[in-house]
Amino acid sequence: MVKRRDPIGSTVASARPLFLVYAAVSLIPVLLLGVVLLNLMGRQATSRGLAEGQAEASLLAGSVISPALGQSAPVGPTLTSAQQARVERAVAPTILGHRVVRLRIRDLESDVVWSDDGSGFGEPVDGEALDAASGVPVVDLTKLDADEAGDGAGHDAGTGPRVVEAYVPILAHDSARRIGVLEVYLPYRPIAADVSTGQHIVGLTLLVGLLLLWAVLLGVSASVSRRIRRAATVNAYLASHDVLTGLPNRARFEQLAADRLAESTSERPVVVAVLDLDRFKQVNDTLGYGNGDVLLSQIADRLGERLRERDLLARLGGNGFGIALGEVHGPSEAVEVLNRLREAVNKPLMINGLPLALEASVGFALGPDDGDDTETLLTRAEIAMYVAKDKHLGVVHFHPEHNRHDAATLGLVAELGDGIAADQLVLHYQPKTELRSGRITAVEALVRWNHPTRGLLYPDAFLPAAEQTELVDPLTAWVLRRALQELPSFDSSGQLDIAVNVSARSLAQDDFADGVLAIIASSGIDPTRVIIEVTETALVTDARRAEMNLTRLDEAGVRVSIDDFGAGQTSLAYLASLPVTELKIDKGFVIAMTHDLRNAAIVRSIIELGHSLGLTVTAEGVETVEILDELTVADCDLVQGYLLSRPLTADKLREHLMGERVTNA
Ligand code: C2E
Ligand code: CA
Ligand code: CA
Repeated sequence: MVKRRDPIGSTVASARPLFLVYAAVSLIPVLLLGVVLLNLMGRQATSRGLAEGQAEASLLAGSVISPALGQSAPVGPTLTSAQQARVERAVAPTILGHRVVRLRIRDLESDVVWSDDGSGFGEPVDGEALDAASGVPVVDLTKLDADEAGDGAGHDAGTGPRVVEAYVPILAHDSARRIGVLEVYLPYRPIAADVSTGQHIVGLTLLVGLLLLWAVLLGVSASVSRRIRRAATVNAYLASHDVLTGLPNRARFEQLAADRLAESTSERPVVVAVLDLDRFKQVNDTLGYGNGDVLLSQIADRLGERLRERDLLARLGGNGFGIALGEVHGPSEAVEVLNRLREAVNKPLMINGLPLALEASVGFALGPDDGDDTETLLTRAEIAMYVAKDKHLGVVHFHPEHNRHDAATLGLVAELGDGIAADQLVLHYQPKTELRSGRITAVEALVRWNHPTRGLLYPDAFLPAAEQTELVDPLTAWVLRRALQELPSFDSSGQLDIAVNVSARSLAQDDFADGVLAIIASSGIDPTRVIIEVTETALVTDARRAEMNLTRLDEAGVRVSIDDFGAGQTSLAYLASLPVTELKIDKGFVIAMTHDLRNAAIVRSIIELGHSLGLTVTAEGVETVEILDELTVADCDLVQGYLLSRPLTADKLREHLMGERVTNA
């Protein structure tokens, strides 16, 4: 069985590694920011530690050393032994308590005059001590023996424990005068521990906060990118699939069929076929679009079930399906397979609990023999399909002969919409003459297409194909509007009736009668002067709707004529039930009546039948005087034909009508 529905999202998997890369990369700036912030915090903590060290040193200088020295003059090169004893006693608890690692008292020239461990005497001038002597305390983070390890080697030289080194001025015990400098080394660890407990908490909070922020942003971008990815996948799906049936669309079909074509040979060809439902539009209009959709889905399922895994099925749009078959050995096998598919479609379907029979026409082309690209093959299959539809042949293999005629017709239909819009259509009018009086009582509007490159085209060249499409509705409306608009230009009497032909397709439209009445109303022409000509086929195509439309028209005074009467197989009982006012005998019978007795009998009995139903009977195709005579004998009401007048342009018709009035007068 052919896979029908390509699930959306089968192609999303490849996006995952990409997202992991994104997550990792976005973590880098977050971590960098964290490091910078932590570093800044570290610096701040250090300077806070230094400030604490300095405060402690100042306290020591002010409240311990200065009172122990007890002098107002700057300290001399040595301390008195009394001073030494007092100082040693005063600092003993601090030293013993390990609150201080080293203490030195220097004079204002930076020379050491006392130190707790006997170090520092006779060293060269110390700049930091001089700064403190001039009133600027200096504090630094260093190692205990950094100074001894070598000058200028940097604060972190040396191997001793980390210490806060502070130089603060010693003020006189009784005035604000600087009398010396106190050099203090405080152990850094307790200070650092003190500062870092707070710092750790803040740092941790910061780190957790940043990671959380990162996670939230990641979550948001993950969901956004998921949505974008999904939208992209859906778009890609829609671009290549038919939403209703889930089948590939035409573009996708061409791509997929191209792969099959590449592998095909004349012996093992690829079959490209187009299957089109006949009269689907009417079914759709009759049952409503919802049911039309159900129907198409069911047909798609049926086709899918009967195809093999390697075969392709696509919806080409409207009511057409594309099929590509592999492993077929030639045209006759293709016909066989496609006929089976066609029969599957032809089996009645249940719609709304009612059985409904549809027919399909199939055309196909073989690759590579009938075309070496899928587009050509598809177009040729389509042409063959139109031939199948037109001639009721079921399945048709493309033949180059088809190309000339049918491709031209197809092309024409494609141009018809523009032709109508560009006002390229023209109407010719053929008079209907009353036999008894010899008077023209009506004219029939017949459409022609003044094609820009092909010249004047007659209905046979474009109407049958147009009737397969929706284009015929605007055409019908255009003809009616134009005929009513031109009528006063050639009919100065205001007495002539105007007949307009209507396709079966138009008559099956729900709003057909309303449309006709609206056009008549806006033309200002009396509805009783309008005759609608419909064929028997039009009456039976969608009998219920046709009857409804005809009744509406009849109620408004519009007359209805049955065209080509005798050619179809309408039942008489059915005819009698319709609001019909005229029978037009098919011109085939009329033309043949003078040399074929049976035809003459048919014409006579139609006239009798019409009269007994109270209808006007018109004979068309009156080409000779003999025919006219026989019709007169048979008591026909109206005649129309080349003998009396060919279809004429509005201008020619006006002249014709004027001449006639002169002869009649
Ligand atoms: P029809 O309705 O049976 O129109 C009569 C056709 O017979 C016209 O052909 C007309 O030119 C032709 N004809 C008239 N007198 C004679 C005659 O004495 N001998 C012969 N052999 N033919 C005669 P035309 O104009 O080519 O139209 C062909 C058909 O196209 C029409 O057949 C009608 O079915 C259809 N048609 C024409 N105009 C329209 C239109 O506006 N709408 C629709 N839906 N169909 C139209
Ligand atoms: Ca007609
Ligand atoms: Ca006719």
